[in-house]
Amino acid sequence: MLPSRPYPPGTRIGLTTTIPVEAVLAAGLIPVDLNNLFISSPWTLARVSAAEAAGFPRTICAWVKGIYATLTDHPEIEAVIVACQGDCSYTQALGEILEAQSREVIHFKYPYPRERGQLQQELEHLLARLGTTPAAAARMQARLAPLRRNLRRLDRLTWETGQVKGEENFSYLISSSDFASDPEAYARKVAGFLGQAEKRPRRSPLVRLGMVGIPPIFTDLWDYLEELGAGVVFNEMPRQFSMPYPGLDLVEQYLRYTYPYDVFGRLADLEEAVKERRLDGLVHYTQSFCFRQMFDQIIRERLAIPLLTIEGDRPTPLDSRTRMRLEAFVDVLRP
Ligand code: SF4
Repeated sequence: MLPSRPYPPGTRIGLTTTIPVEAVLAAGLIPVDLNNLFISSPWTLARVSAAEAAGFPRTICAWVKGIYATLTDHPEIEAVIVACQGDCSYTQALGEILEAQSREVIHFKYPYPRERGQLQQELEHLLARLGTTPAAAARMQARLAPLRRNLRRLDRLTWETGQVKGEENFSYLISSSDFASDPEAYARKVAGFLGQAEKRPRRSPLVRLGMVGIPPIFTDLWDYLEELGAGVVFNEMPRQFSMPYPGLDLVEQYLRYTYPYDVFGRLADLEEAVKERRLDGLVHYTQSFCFRQMFDQIIRERLAIPLLTIEGDRPTPLDSRTRMRLEAFVDVLRP
């Protein structure tokens, strides 16, 4: 028997992070990644300030404040899926604040430690909550497979032939958390872009970098690295958001995804990328007031590659100190 539909088709559902988006789409709902909605708006800084004016402390991550204020400006987003385990140490509190303001909150938990049975259960709960079934989600996964294949191609064109720039790679892969709220239009956009990129001449940056960590909040990081002659040929998290492992069932797909689980899965993924993509160095982006900053130490210790750690706070251009540090790092790596 089909579960009853709690939301009419076309209802917009906010996501605080990457969750099994197939569930949202299978239910006929529109996923909206709140991070992307926040960072792509012209009012990013104003939204961080608005959250502070509403009472969020200065010492809370700007992404959380941005999501909160963005939601205030988007009442059409009827419910929010909050990953209260496996994402962010602030998410549970954010969910409670939203509930207190009468926003509907749906909880989703990535199991910790990584465990198939628990993830399957969580996924089934989510599907039932959204009014759909595992079979419908599996059909949606199959429908998305050509699009995910094209995203893998786009990624290859970044590190194999250099026909896709690091920033383009970042922007296409990061949007795969919600497929820009319209998978069909997004698939056409990706296919069109690939058609153009494949006609570009091949190029090889002087310095091959990997960008590690949560998505940087800086507005001009890739442009500046390009100016220095360094190409970002690996964007760790955006690539993870694109679910780059084909041929898995839906539970396995989100079990293989490294972001919500322990750091060791990330380390294995990073080691492989360093080797396969012939990286010269890594830039580890860390966010002010984020618990994930603590992983810097272990990443630095375990990976035998030069690594520069930078920290961002608000959605602004790079500050002069970070620009100088990036320049010095690229200079050292330049052949
Ligand atoms: S950067 Fe860190 S603290 Fe901020 S939302 Fe992401 S995980 Fe949470």
